[in-house]
Amino acid sequence: MKILVLGAGVVGVTSAYYLAKAGHDVTVIDRQPGPGLETSFANGGQISASHADPWAGPATPAKIVKWLGRADAPLLYRFRADLAQWAWGLRFLRNCTAGRSRINTERVLRVAVYSRDCLRALRAETGIAYDHLGKGILHVYSDPREFEQAVPKAAAMSELGCIRKVLTPQECVAIEPALAASRDELVGGTFSPDDESGDAHVFTGRVAELAGAAGVQFRYGVTVTGFATEGDRLTAVQAGSERLTADACVVALGSFTPLLVRRIGIRLPVYPAKGYSVTIPVDGHAGAPSVAIIDDQRKIVYSRLGQRLRVAGTAEIAGYDTTVREERTRPILNAAMRLFPDCGDPGKAEFWAGLRPTTPDSVPVIGPTRYRNLFLNTGHGTLGWTMACGSGRLIADLVSGRAPEISPEGLDVSRF
Ligand SMILES: Cc1cc2nc3c(=O)[nH]c(=O)nc-3n(C[C@H](O)[C@H](O)[C@H](O)COP(=O)(O)OP(=O)(O)OC[C@H]3O[C@@H](n4cnc5c(N)ncnc54)[C@H](O)[C@@H]3O)c2cc1C
Repeated sequence: MKILVLGAGVVGVTSAYYLAKAGHDVTVIDRQPGPGLETSFANGGQISASHADPWAGPATPAKIVKWLGRADAPLLYRFRADLAQWAWGLRFLRNCTAGRSRINTERVLRVAVYSRDCLRALRAETGIAYDHLGKGILHVYSDPREFEQAVPKAAAMSELGCIRKVLTPQECVAIEPALAASRDELVGGTFSPDDESGDAHVFTGRVAELAGAAGVQFRYGVTVTGFATEGDRLTAVQAGSERLTADACVVALGSFTPLLVRRIGIRLPVYPAKGYSVTIPVDGHAGAPSVAIIDDQRKIVYSRLGQRLRVAGTAEIAGYDTTVREERTRPILNAAMRLFPDCGDPGKAEFWAGLRPTTPDSVPVIGPTRYRNLFLNTGHGTLGWTMACGSGRLIADLVSGRAPEISPEGLDVSRF
């Protein structure tokens, strides 16, 4: 089949790769001059199935109220005159029950654990290199109450197939000696040995090369502006000045997907959640971690990417704005320098902001739509790289009419 993939972020590129491997004739369209230049550019760098607990949980509304107006708030809701933002917020609140949270955790884990396996298979098959580290992810806690809540969550995740071992502070330091400097702050940790880290942007570029070698055409610098439909079929995609036709189309435009598909009547509650990253050159400093870390309480992640330390976090529900705000990046840099005082020179840090395509239930949207040749692969929120390979493989199977290796139940847009 002739297939159009819209979007060359990590999700679009992996979709294109698996579609080409399934024997299709694939063209990828993106408005940027290359792959992975928007949200997939400088993210936290973690393949973290262990981070699958959804943002919406029973304790979240109280936390959001507590964090209102704080510069270091892990999740900040900036109220705007934007109907989509309010509708998203209401759906988010409806997902804050224990029952919904359990269902959503299972759905995210289903995709994330499968995706980790697909990534491993891709690595074994192709030898793809991207500053990969397979030393697991260590979640650390400095607040006794947060740690207390993390222990049953870790047990529940282990039962769902994502091992998270509970650790003492000494055991945390044994896994990551760079934590010795802040040992007295720690009250405990959990460790997921199967999680990984690496550079998502390099990964996206390399998968694009592999896809190109498998016959995928990439058309950069082309903006998609609309669709034409007839009955239950998509008939054309308006891309720049051209009307492109294909047998099927996969939309992977990240946070921008809902703005386009709503023109053909698809209501998709994906909203941007802005996050920031700070990249510190290690430059011979001895105190940077070499195991990927998540500070669960502050929602900050640390990944060692060769001779750089990537530190990322915070979420702002504030619309389509990618301005890098100093008052939001400074607390991330300060947190890094407090946990790892000799990790690098803070004066050489680089700052970045990106828009996570986020659903109110934290579950991605992967699957068919009311148009039988139009598919969605988006809404991966905080775990887009973690879930990219699995989502790409799943959408390739669904488009090809093959039985997927995991159940697609509860993943498509009809759940809203
Ligand atoms: C601070 C931060 C830290 C993160 N940390 C992690 C992490 O550690 N692990 C993890 O798994 N995930 C992480 N994420 C999430 C992850 O980065 C995203 O979920 C993922 O990058 C989304 O990929 P995507 O391909 O869906 O979107 P994008 O990468 O945004 O790709 C969408 C593409 O569509 C193109 N596009 C949009 N509109 C149009 C149009 N009209 N016409 C043509 N092209 C268009 C864009 O140019 C872009 O290339 C983090 C995100 C942030 C912001």
